[in-house]
Amino acid sequence: MLAHRLEGIPPTIFSRMSALALSTGAVNLGQGFPDVDGPPEVVDRAVAALREGANQYAPGIGIPMLRQAIARHQQRHYGIELDPDTEVVVTTGCTEAVAAALLGLVDPGDEIVVLEPYYDSYVAMIQMAGGVRRPVTLRAPDFRLDLDELRAAVTPRTRFVLLNTPHNPTGTVLSRVELQAVADLAIEHDLVVITDEVYEHLVFDDHEHVPIATLPGMAERTLTLSSAGKSYSFTGWKVGWATGPAALVGAVLAAKQWLTFTSGSPLQPAVALALDELPDVPRDLAVDLQGRRDLLCAGLTEAGLDVRVPEGTYFATTDVGALGWPDGLSFCLALPERAGVVAIPAQVFYDDQEEGRHRVRWAFCKEPSVIAEGTRRLSAADLRP
Ligand code: GLN
Repeated sequence: MLAHRLEGIPPTIFSRMSALALSTGAVNLGQGFPDVDGPPEVVDRAVAALREGANQYAPGIGIPMLRQAIARHQQRHYGIELDPDTEVVVTTGCTEAVAAALLGLVDPGDEIVVLEPYYDSYVAMIQMAGGVRRPVTLRAPDFRLDLDELRAAVTPRTRFVLLNTPHNPTGTVLSRVELQAVADLAIEHDLVVITDEVYEHLVFDDHEHVPIATLPGMAERTLTLSSAGKSYSFTGWKVGWATGPAALVGAVLAAKQWLTFTSGSPLQPAVALALDELPDVPRDLAVDLQGRRDLLCAGLTEAGLDVRVPEGTYFATTDVGALGWPDGLSFCLALPERAGVVAIPAQVFYDDQEEGRHRVRWAFCKEPSVIAEGTRRLSAADLRP
């Protein structure tokens, strides 16, 4: 049994592939979670909070200490000024922020321009909210935003743009020029931009993450979403947030109160400590991750896969078409047995199957020894169908 609002939406690929990794004992280069936890002092703070009695409901909007720390974070990194009492709301991971933003803002029939390939929860939540997605494809081999396609996606029914930068799964970091084009369009058509920036600190080489909220005229029409999961290697804590104008943040809170009501009390002071007292951890992580990115990309190339070197995030993508597979899903389902490795078929993130059919995503947020073992297995295996 399933309500219409969930019709056609399969179980999330991440659960499916991680279950496959567990049942086959394969090296999991699929779901994006680090195999080393974040800083021990942050864990200690959460333990202390549990012991101190932070065990009953937190305020729905989030504890003041964390909201203030989030506001300081936006100030410190981007010069964004926020009122922590009205312009910041704490959520249960960025996934809840996405859900609450869409449920709180989208009316049935509203169109939402969304970058394709898209993170799977966007599609599910747009559909649950009764919205209509208008994908704009980041096309191989460069995965840049095509400004003509972007403009063509906007209709009189468009009310939102749902951005994701740095972008999962392509690893594209949208440039200032691309973001300015989105901003121009948003201002011209009076659109609200909802932007998922959970990989904000995980950018490589000389790439720079630019929050679209910092572009002229955008602060008042942008809802920015992020979390502690990726920046501090606590993906299982599910502490996220939404920031922006009070009217947009208020809509998130209006929906969030009926979803989770409030988010986990003992984790909030710990994340506040991380943001305030360990501001360099995410940058150090990015430097370290860049080395692991290079290790993975070299290993994939050696295994005969055509890899796109990502500018940010946890992920690199390859095209497995040349190997002779009908699609990436059949490749990924065969891979644990063939090679003892799990990857994610990125085709599930596309409406445009011509574009996405053969794309496979690999995670490098893993220990170097795990990446090396995974790619060694790929090199040793016969990867043809
Ligand atoms: N964001 C993670 C990824 O892209 C997975 C999170 C999830 O499993 N929902 O791999």
